[in-house]
Amino acid sequence: MNPEQAKSSLNISPAIRVGVLGFGGLGQAAAKLLAGKQEMIVVAAADQKGYAYAAEGLNTKECIAIYQSQGSVGYLEPVGNLTNHSIQDLIESTQAVDGYFLALPNLPNDFIPNVAKQFIKSGWRGVLVDAIKRTTAVEQLLAMKEELQAAGITYMTGCGATPGLLTAAAAIAAQSYAEIHQVEITFGVGIANWEAYRATVREDIGHMPGYTVETARAMTDAEVEALLDKTNGVLTLENMEHADDVMLEVAGICDRDRVTVGGVVDTRNPKKPLSTNVKVTGRTFEGKISTHTFTLGDETSMAANVCGPAFGYLKAGKQLHQRGIYGIFTAAEIMPQFVR
Ligand code: NAD
Repeated sequence: MNPEQAKSSLNISPAIRVGVLGFGGLGQAAAKLLAGKQEMIVVAAADQKGYAYAAEGLNTKECIAIYQSQGSVGYLEPVGNLTNHSIQDLIESTQAVDGYFLALPNLPNDFIPNVAKQFIKSGWRGVLVDAIKRTTAVEQLLAMKEELQAAGITYMTGCGATPGLLTAAAAIAAQSYAEIHQVEITFGVGIANWEAYRATVREDIGHMPGYTVETARAMTDAEVEALLDKTNGVLTLENMEHADDVMLEVAGICDRDRVTVGGVVDTRNPKKPLSTNVKVTGRTFEGKISTHTFTLGDETSMAANVCGPAFGYLKAGKQLHQRGIYGIFTAAEIMPQFVR
């Protein structure tokens, strides 16, 4: 019995069966994080070249080792399958996954919305969670609400760090105020090398002046490296198109033009270049203007601050799903549940 199996057999209520779509930086971090949890087991993982599925739980260490040495979890014997349509083939091969974390690049900008459509078409029912970043991508997903409802899917969107943890913190901070004047999110990310998070870095480049999602997507690895060489590995981002704005607007907290997001990403040093924080300024019912600040601990990594909330929202989504509540919800509307 592998450790995952032992974990699920010890559990009184069955563990939530999780699939991780995309097995790059965040996907692998997600698998590592769940290895320490009792309430969730990873039963499926997929990357661009293949997928692996095991009803009793995948050995996540082996999945990571195979992915790193051979480039795909599809090589994992005997549970791996090599295919260029890994998501489609995985969905068609099993219904026995309660929820998927979409740790996929959103390149092009409608990639994840199209994955959601594949799930709708497939007849699978369950919970989907993303850590998607762009406003326009979240808007595409929000527009799919009725189709998701009809399909019996509970979709939790914008459930990473920003959007995600920080947007939810802003929604809580807003409660002290009668009117919200400004929500200012500033993130600091430090990673040892950009190759560990290629999609994240490419998507961030897409926010820089003179770049778009499409130009960033089309860049070769050598071109990304050449750009990073020019900036000493640091990307400085301002006024980003980040879905925290639409999420706070949809939650009725403030108009989107009051929300700003920017940050600094150091791709050559795991130390954060600045402390990630959200500042929420507003007026209380007594007429006082004040600012609440929520700052993440500098020792917490991007992976911890994205994957933790993503599974917290997956657990919350599962509870909604069990109650027959389908459709789409954002991180600003629902409280994440702590996964033990
Ligand atoms: P990555 O580049 O490290 O890995 C991407 C993975 O997706 C790889 O395993 C790749 O094989 C797989 N993949 C690509 N195309 C696929 C396909 N068609 N079918 C199946 N698998 C496919 O990515 P990452 O840096 O871990 O980022 C993942 C996502 O997380 C990005 O969209 C990024 O924007 C998002 N993100 C969100 C936050 C947040 O706070 N909300 C923070 C960081 C990253």
